[in-house]
Amino acid sequence: MMAAARQTLHRWFYRPWPLAMMAAALSLTLLLTVSLGVALRQVQQRESEQMNAQGERFLERLEQLFGQLRESLDDLEAQPLRGCSAQMIAALQEVSFNYRFVYEAAYIDKSQLCSNRPRQEDLAAVRSPDIQGPTYSYWLNTSTEPNENRAALMLGRGNFRVATSRGHLADMVDLMPGSSLLVIVDHGTRAIPVLGAPQSWPPKEAWSPFSTEPLQITQNRLIYRMPTINPEYQLVLISPRTALHLPVLWWWLVPSSLLLGACIGAVVYLLARQRQSMGGELHGALKRDELQVLYQPIFDLGSRQCVGAEALLRWRRPDGTLTSPDLFIPMAENSGQIRQITDFVLERLLKQLGQLLRANPQLYISVNLAACDVMVPRIGEVMARLLAQHQVAAHQIAFEVTERGLIDVVVARQNLQALRDAGHQVLIDDFGTGYCSLAYLQTLPVDCLKIDKAFIDALGHDAASSGVAPHIIRMAHALQLKVIAEGIEHEEQVMYLSSEGVHYGQGWLFAHALSAAQLIELVTHGRRRSPRRIEDEA
Ligand code: C2E
Ligand code: MG
Ligand code: MG
Repeated sequence: MMAAARQTLHRWFYRPWPLAMMAAALSLTLLLTVSLGVALRQVQQRESEQMNAQGERFLERLEQLFGQLRESLDDLEAQPLRGCSAQMIAALQEVSFNYRFVYEAAYIDKSQLCSNRPRQEDLAAVRSPDIQGPTYSYWLNTSTEPNENRAALMLGRGNFRVATSRGHLADMVDLMPGSSLLVIVDHGTRAIPVLGAPQSWPPKEAWSPFSTEPLQITQNRLIYRMPTINPEYQLVLISPRTALHLPVLWWWLVPSSLLLGACIGAVVYLLARQRQSMGGELHGALKRDELQVLYQPIFDLGSRQCVGAEALLRWRRPDGTLTSPDLFIPMAENSGQIRQITDFVLERLLKQLGQLLRANPQLYISVNLAACDVMVPRIGEVMARLLAQHQVAAHQIAFEVTERGLIDVVVARQNLQALRDAGHQVLIDDFGTGYCSLAYLQTLPVDCLKIDKAFIDALGHDAASSGVAPHIIRMAHALQLKVIAEGIEHEEQVMYLSSEGVHYGQGWLFAHALSAAQLIELVTHGRRRSPRRIEDEA
């Protein structure tokens, strides 16, 4: 039941259309989310930059303004006149001339009031100041009338009052519509609007009165708290958040994401199609006998005698094209066809070389195993049956596993041990290209390391001692493992390897992969390197 469901799912995954659609949808969603995220961040960043800039400009102007008001009060307080008189009016007028922001200057005591401007009402004398500092008192928003000339801020010292008009304030701080300038008093609990509409205070949104960040962004407001020196009050600028104007860029990102998603879908479709068709073809190839096994001889580097061979697959299509095993083996591993292929190699090799092996009991053939071959004990069983059938000794068949094939070490170790117990040799192929560490290697039941061609290549040009090969060789010797060098193409490489104590090697210097007939010829008649290298039969 479970297996059937898994099979269906598996098959579905291998169909090009659903796979392509899924890839396209996934990449599209990802692209759109990422670009939307980027766009929103950009909006927010711009918003807060604007607010910060405005807030700073504001604060600078306000400090200038407060400075003038205080200075003008100090001037008035310092001059000797008290009580209303023509001289007093002149002094008050002079102050409002001298200080640009002072709209009105007044003298006030219990019985009289005079100002540089004609006025009737009592200048909020009865109202106690909103903020009472040690020297100055502050009245905020002293009039709610929309008259531009009404005082927006009034400061007092002794008998003197100076005020700035709403017009002065609004003039110098261009508030955006909907924004307000508030003065927060009573330890942050009360907000008096100096400009703009009253705002709910304190904000319902989490607001830390100790936060050092001047700007707080809530869902629909920007709150800029100005860092004022005076502990008695705080200036706060509140702006509504601009409606989410997505940047123009985003509207470009949408169609390009669509296009890219479609492209990714198309690529996935083509790849899946190719894989599907290759999978199908491979299936047919096995049936039509298009797969061949070739044998690359392995030589004793000292005596130049052939001691064994590695079985290598070739796929020759009816039209003559040759597909590399590097292409179709990974695919067969994914589709599960590799088991059939491994069985095919084993059967073919014993059929072709059974007699040669029986006649040369020291000769061995090594066979490449895929990761999934190592994960189950099946190979041992198949092998035992074939060996019995062909009367070949187990030590004449070796198995090559790559480091990538040892995903689950515990299971792999068990199965490899079983193969060794049966008499086979176990080789680590392409050693050095995977993640096998020394500690890990020590625990594996192996007989031999095959040094990957990449490291042997380095011996060609570098100063002989450079590169990784010498280290691998020393390590293998320390672990008492045999070493086979892969991909030997130059005589100098042989010399170096021999001097390092490597006894075996394979490569185009000696022979390409040969057909069974050519290998038999080589072994039985000792035909080794002819003036021309023995050519790959394929
Ligand atoms: P591998 O097992 O490391 O095989 C060695 C590869 O190096 C072979 O390529 C061989 O032809 C090539 N080679 C040998 N000497 C030289 C040389 O001097 N110079 C150069 N440039 N190349 C050399 P091939 O046959 O294309 O095989 C590629 C890989 O495919 C093999 O790597 C092996 O991992 C895999 N493979 C081949 N046959 C089988 C098979 O029957 N079963 C499994 N599971 N994998 C196989
Ligand atoms: Mg190999
Ligand atoms: Mg190899």
